[in-house]
Amino acid sequence: MLSAQTTDKAVNKVTPALFSRYPSPGALAEADVAEVAELLRAGGLGMFNQKGKNIVGLSRALVEVHRGEVPRSLDALVELPGVGRKTANVVLGVMWNIPEGVVVDTHVQRLSQRLGLTKEQTPEKIELALCALYPRDRWDALSHLLIFHGRRVCFAIRPACSACKASDLCPNAFRADDVGRKKR
Ligand code: SF4
Repeated sequence: MLSAQTTDKAVNKVTPALFSRYPSPGALAEADVAEVAELLRAGGLGMFNQKGKNIVGLSRALVEVHRGEVPRSLDALVELPGVGRKTANVVLGVMWNIPEGVVVDTHVQRLSQRLGLTKEQTPEKIELALCALYPRDRWDALSHLLIFHGRRVCFAIRPACSACKASDLCPNAFRADDVGRKKR
């Protein structure tokens, strides 16, 4: 939830202070939203007001509805404030190892098109296409792999095709600049 429109690096910078000040859902549920937002702002996160409101609201719902535990189903997770299908699938895959879908972020969206895995454009349809192509026990690893490759090699602008180990297999190798990206 903290990573919307920001980097993991920025999130990782702020979480030690956040978790030290509020070490449990119960503590965060009782927190003052403005104080949490200030802590996020001081740590350099954007959208700090909305994110502060979201994580306090989420913690309250966890305490009130789920006894402070993170639920293990997609339906229950997406009922929580600020949690959409993508976040829910990350939690199910990474935390509980029971993914109910493939996480489709900007990297997965771009790479699945460049690699010719789908021609779909929306995250929902891309997810369905990837789920149909791969067995469930690969879904979590698949999204991590595509995200990692998107961050390190297959950049949105000027992908490093000459350094890419998948270039022999990639239908868009050396001409991928405009594939899988929003129209400029
Ligand atoms: S060959 Fe280029 S476009 Fe294809 S996956 Fe590798 S970096 Fe991306």
